[in-house]
This record gives sequence, C-alpha cells and structure tokens, in this order.
Amino acid sequence: MEFGQESAKLVDNLRYQGIGKKVLDAMLLVPRHLFVPTQLRGEAYIDTPLPIGYNQTISAPHMVAIMCDLLDLGEGQNVLEVGTGSGYNAAVMAELVGRTGHVYSVERIAPLAGFAKNNLMDAGCANVTVMLEDGSGGDFPHSPYDRICVTCAAPEIPQPLIEQLKPGGLMVIPVGVASQQLYLVKKDADGTIHKEIKGGVVFVPLVGRFGFSDD
Ligand code: SAM
Repeated sequence: MEFGQESAKLVDNLRYQGIGKKVLDAMLLVPRHLFVPTQLRGEAYIDTPLPIGYNQTISAPHMVAIMCDLLDLGEGQNVLEVGTGSGYNAAVMAELVGRTGHVYSVERIAPLAGFAKNNLMDAGCANVTVMLEDGSGGDFPHSPYDRICVTCAAPEIPQPLIEQLKPGGLMVIPVGVASQQLYLVKKDADGTIHKEIKGGVVFVPLVGRFGFSDD
C-alpha cells in the first residue's frame, strides 16, 4: 500500500502508548492520506492534527485512537458521530463496527460534509452515512445509539445526546470552555448515567443549539 511503511510506524507508536489491538488493526486498514487535503498527503502519517479548511482540523491519530479505544466499539453497533470533518474518524469506527454495523456522522459545514463523502468513497467505506445538520441535539431518525463520539468540544454534555444513548451505551465527548476535558459517559441498563474524566484535550468548538453560538 502507498504510505504503508509510514502507516505501520505510526500505528506501532500508538501500540506503545497502550492503545488496544482492535483499534490499531482498524487504523492500519484506513488510509489517512485519503482524508487530508492533497497538498498535505506527505504529512498524513505524522501524529498531529492537520487543517482541512473552514478553520477545522482532522484530529491527531492518537486522539482518534484514544476515543475509539474508550468507546470499545464492536461488530454490529449503531454509532453516531458529531463532527464528521474529513471522515477519517468515522472510517476507523466503521472498520470497528464491521459490515453489520453503521456509523451516522453529522457535519454542520456543507463543503466539509462533501469532502468527507468523497474521502469515504475513495477509501471504499460503505457503512458510513454523512448528514448535513447541527448534530449538537443528536440525530433522531437513527437513534438510539450503542455509541456516540463527539469530535468537537461542548460547553456541557448536551442532554439530547444522553437521551439518544442506548441503555448500556457509551459516549465520548470533549467538554469545556476555557480548558477542555475528555468525558466518557456510560448509561447503565437501568438508565443511570456515570461520567468519568479521561484527561485534558484541545478540540474545535461544537457550534449549535446545544453547543456554542456561531459568532
Ligand atoms: N472527526 C473529524 C475527522 O476525523 O476529521 C474531525 C472533526 S473536527 C476536529 C470537528 C468537526 O466538528 C468540524 O468539522 C466542525 O465543523 C464540526 N462541528 C462543529 N459543531 C458541529 C455541530 N453542531 N454539528 C455537526 N458538526 C459540528
């Protein structure tokens, strides 16, 4: 594979950071260079966020790995992503849920939704649906979800997203105004919610009805 050696080296570094095997295997199968602007392809396997236009970024590979690891994604799951961006994180999650699972990914910036759809098609990723809307309130037609992955930072955890998580479900979401923390939210079988802070992060803002205002 083009860039195969660079991809293997990147994934090897993530292995030493404690990322689980199923996430590493999925990342080896998704060609990140197909999800960055053409002029940045040479930097696709450096562990850093990269600009994708419209003041947005494709997240750093280690952040994708950490979020996917925390979500404990598996075959057949129904997943919501808020913040499609380039489509890369959606593609990695799609590998993890397999052909019997599906990723519904919501993006609010139309040209980025188009960019992601093209990238996903070029990468041969068939089990992701990209939708153009404000995802801060979730995506009701396909809910409830086994897993929810929010890839932009919210001022607080939006209640509609908690409501659209299945009992037994997991959500990861960066939260914060001045500084941000990554939260893992668990919904028990009886609906009880548990929130754990997993560390400091830096994400672009979730903009929308249950996020920050657009000004
Ligand atoms: N997951 C992406 C990837 O793999 O490239 C990276 C996402 S980027 C860090 C965050 C994205 O969230 C941006 O594309 C931004 O436009 C989007 N976003 C922000 N607020 C949103 C909202 N309310 N609904 C949907 N997308 C939103």
